[in-house]
Amino acid sequence: MRPSVLFPLFTPTDQLPGVGPALVKTLRRLAGERVVDLLWHAPQGIVDRRLVPSIDGLRPPCTATLRVRVGEHDPPRNPRRPYRVLATDAPAGIAGDVAGGNVAGGDGQIVLVFFNARPDWVFRMLPPGEVRLISGAVERYGDLLQMVHPDHIVAEADAESLPSIEPVYPLTAGLTPKVLQKAIRAALARAPDLEEWQDAAFLARNRWPSWRAALAAVHAPQAERDLDPLSPARARLAYDELLANQLALAVVRRTLRVRAGRTIAGDGRLRARVLGHLGFTLTAAQQAALAEITADMAQPQRMLRLLQGDVGSGKTVVALLAMLSAVEAGCQAALMAPTELLARQHLATIAPLADAAGVRLALLTGREKEAARAQTLAGLCAGDIELVVGTHALLQEGVAFRDLALAVIDEQHRFGVEQRVALSAKGAACDVLVMSATPIPRTLTMTAYGDLDVSRLTEKPPGRTPVDTRAISVERLDDVVAAAGRLLEAGGKAYWVCPLVEDSETLDLAAAEQRFAQLQVAFPGRVGLVHGRMKTAERDAVMRAFRDGPPSVLVATTVIEVGVDVPDATLMVIEHAERFGLAQLHQLRGRVGRGDAHSTCILLYAPPLGEAARARLAILRETDDGFRIAEEDLRLRGAGELLGVRQSGLPAFRVADLAHHGELLAAARDDAALILARDPDLAGPRGRALRTLLYLFERDQAVKTLRSG
Ligand code: ADP
Ligand code: MG
Repeated sequence: MRPSVLFPLFTPTDQLPGVGPALVKTLRRLAGERVVDLLWHAPQGIVDRRLVPSIDGLRPPCTATLRVRVGEHDPPRNPRRPYRVLATDAPAGIAGDVAGGNVAGGDGQIVLVFFNARPDWVFRMLPPGEVRLISGAVERYGDLLQMVHPDHIVAEADAESLPSIEPVYPLTAGLTPKVLQKAIRAALARAPDLEEWQDAAFLARNRWPSWRAALAAVHAPQAERDLDPLSPARARLAYDELLANQLALAVVRRTLRVRAGRTIAGDGRLRARVLGHLGFTLTAAQQAALAEITADMAQPQRMLRLLQGDVGSGKTVVALLAMLSAVEAGCQAALMAPTELLARQHLATIAPLADAAGVRLALLTGREKEAARAQTLAGLCAGDIELVVGTHALLQEGVAFRDLALAVIDEQHRFGVEQRVALSAKGAACDVLVMSATPIPRTLTMTAYGDLDVSRLTEKPPGRTPVDTRAISVERLDDVVAAAGRLLEAGGKAYWVCPLVEDSETLDLAAAEQRFAQLQVAFPGRVGLVHGRMKTAERDAVMRAFRDGPPSVLVATTVIEVGVDVPDATLMVIEHAERFGLAQLHQLRGRVGRGDAHSTCILLYAPPLGEAARARLAILRETDDGFRIAEEDLRLRGAGELLGVRQSGLPAFRVADLAHHGELLAAARDDAALILARDPDLAGPRGRALRTLLYLFERDQAVKTLRSG
């Protein structure tokens, strides 16, 4: 259970003073719905609100804080005109001489401008003759200087309430800086002092503040350097998050590892039969990976290994051969895929080979008829079925194995740590192999998989012709449509991917629907559409029609199933290619070039192309090596932008940014290992504080995995 000290942070934002239902909605859109989400919403800039000596010294446009004496009011004669108030410099030191209403002031003048303002409100805020501190954006308007809707208007007596340096937060429509600041201040006020979870000497060496002080400092930057991701306060919070991430992964890994493993060693007879039926020989990379996997399985400890390789690098065969080792040893193996379509695809690949080897194979996806399902469950339980391919349905309670020795999880980045654990828990001492088609840089592998052992398929099976990759300006869209038309005539199929709009599936969809409509006109009845808002079954149906049906164009947002194999698709058009990360472009390109035919990938860009975008597209044309592309992507863009987080399987960090905090990540990994070596159950005083840290960053699952201590 979450420690009670954190309760105030994990309540909805409407618990904060002044936060009503409307604001809750806006805040949810911006940061999240709980108080803690506001804490992680860090400022991106600062405004200097220190007093400027005189109006005359200003160089507009600029932001300035002035001490002025309020002059004449000029209310609007019709409602479309603004309310204007004249104000003059009131240098400090000559404040008192207003007795006769004879306004003394400096030479500088400024007009304060209000649209749609209630006159009584303006009058109350700016009583004529009085001195006020005003702060806001100053601009020139004809011969005059003006400030439209000052950000702050305060009486001298309240000068304290005017921050000298004000944080600037990322905003969202319908939210003003003042309202957001107030909500964040309220959230900060609820942040408790927490027992220190970091090592005291480590903190001192880095000159890092306590958690509470770091939070306060992050939200009260005093200078530009305080916005630096490596400033002490920001680095501290980032390290907290990275430590929580690494500790959680280490805990889960350890619980999998400490449960006794077993030795699984086949005699090779089934594998030999399958190898004889393949019609090709394994690549050196496949052989190396398979050797690593079988060696792991033969160890008495549990295997926890990640098999990484581009789409088409031949992971499935490697997984099958590993599973056959388990069958040879008299046990069972399971392969879990993220969607029904992918599960069926794996089944289609594996079935003929399993047949050839005389191995009994079944499918379990949750969509089988009741009788078939019952039969499969009985077969798994009795051990008659040796291999099973399936979806999440494999995790259901009713699914029991006689002796599951190897769980293969084809991730495509949809399964979380819990699901990996859940599947392996169906076996007594089950080995785990996770497959991933997204080559991510080594440093980042750590954040998603901790220190899982890694095998990489860095080499493609021979005989693939590289995809012809071209960058073409969207001004030549008509040419591209014509090329798609020629392809259709020749019996080919094409993908057409529409722009990724950050954080907005709605806009994604609008763009895709528009292109869909246009292409429908060009190619009536031969265009399909898939997007993220569709139900899985609907989407699968469209994908299936594209794969099995006549030549067509498939318009898609970026959700197209990473693993779906349509060998006769030979054209990939990617609109607004400049908005995608390299790795993502590479993934998309991997959809084509799967058969023998020559394939083309067209990267449509909106000119002019920036320097960075140009470099990205150049790399893509230069290489087809997913691992190299991933490293370049990290170098060029930074981890935050690396991939749509949903697609990459990388955890979404709230504070840490791996482009800046990569070195901290390595330290956090070592730290996590050391912590668990000393206090495996996190039961000591620091251990208890670390449990709080895990809850703070919502790694609850990891704490539950620990023996209660
Ligand atoms: P992945 O799962 O990594 O995307 P697959 O295992 O689906 O890749 O393999 C892609 C295709 O390449 C399949 O048709 C498979 O039969 C074929 N293949 C796998 N390994 C080899 C190899 N060593 N030589 C030739 N073809 C191979
Ligand atoms: Mg595959």
